[in-house]
Amino acid sequence: MEKLIITLAHTGNVPTKSLNPHTPVTIDEIVEDIKVCRNLGAAVAHIHVRDEEEKPTSRRNLFEKVLKRLDEEKVDIIRQVSTGARGGENTIEWRGQMLDLPGAEMASLSTGSSNFPTSVNANSPELIEALAKKMYENGIKPEIEAFDVGMIDNARRLLKKGILKGPLHFNFVMNVPGAIAGTPKNLMHMVECLPQGSTFNVSGIGASQVNMIGMAIILGGHVRTGLEDVIKYDKNTLASNAMLIERVVRMTKEFGREIAAPDEARKILSL
Ligand code: MG
Repeated sequence: MEKLIITLAHTGNVPTKSLNPHTPVTIDEIVEDIKVCRNLGAAVAHIHVRDEEEKPTSRRNLFEKVLKRLDEEKVDIIRQVSTGARGGENTIEWRGQMLDLPGAEMASLSTGSSNFPTSVNANSPELIEALAKKMYENGIKPEIEAFDVGMIDNARRLLKKGILKGPLHFNFVMNVPGAIAGTPKNLMHMVECLPQGSTFNVSGIGASQVNMIGMAIILGGHVRTGLEDVIKYDKNTLASNAMLIERVVRMTKEFGREIAAPDEARKILSL
């Protein structure tokens, strides 16, 4: 089976230092966690940034600082920036402001709307198309964030219309309260709905984390993990990004798959 790509989702929009003191929120902390996790096996960094008050933001200059530091420190990890709906204003300009930064190779793109626990994951048709267009203009490959099956179907539609270009890469975000549950049956169905030639990650949110990692490994998919997806390692232990990456590496090896280095991942993802 193909080598497995591990994506590190180091910070996300939800965790805070008070929820989990290991959450990287400053530029220094974010870059340090990316470096540590790259050395442990992560090939992609799914980058979110925080403002001075730890609040999630899409601010261009903060993304720029992270990308610059990764270049300066010669970290070869794939840079994937987040265009998610919880980084402040929900406008095309605000959410896509970092997409022309040098060094960004991938970006997240939701192809539909759903609920988060306390807000709406609002992605209008106009916003999806505009963000996709800006990504392709800047040589960025979208990672389709599918919080439900309908978002895969919509990606297929956008592929047919030429708004998305294949081969597509998906991240199945399983078990967000308000969207699809993280069950084996649901994941199987999502995999079966993929357009031919697609690659996919699985993100098991919260309690679904370990089961979804196992499923992704068996099904020939790839794995996303990090404090964005789960803040506890098990019932009694707070996680760190390094602990979460190490677990994926151990599980993958037990199943007889190898871990992809960033350059191998670039080939698998057709970057
Ligand atoms: Mg994200």
